[in-house]
Amino acid sequence: MIDPPRKRSEHRTFPGEKEITRFEMMRMFDGDEAWVRTLEETIFCTCNAPVKRLIAYKVFVNDLNDLVMRGLCSACNTIAARYVETGEDPEKVKRIKAVLRERKKSATRT
Ligand SMILES: [Zn+2]
Repeated sequence: MIDPPRKRSEHRTFPGEKEITRFEMMRMFDGDEAWVRTLEETIFCTCNAPVKRLIAYKVFVNDLNDLVMRGLCSACNTIAARYVETGEDPEKVKRIKAVLRERKKSATRT
């Protein structure tokens, strides 16, 4: 028997994921605000609301250089996420690596 899918109330993050800012994500998409908005509006959520968007979210980069946006669904206010397969685009991977490299540099003053 399979349990009916129950929505968690909190997001889980996975080892190897690095949180980045929305500003850094914008850099990865070359400042394409419209595209980022499209991503925010095409989220997976189990609610039936026809219009929803991801709000109050955080962005993570995982080991595959893909982005994971985790936040709340604006329609039902439960957690929702958007996975973006940036790791398949060499041009984006280049930008992602540049952003992460800069992060490391500014973090070395520990
Ligand atoms: Zn929802």
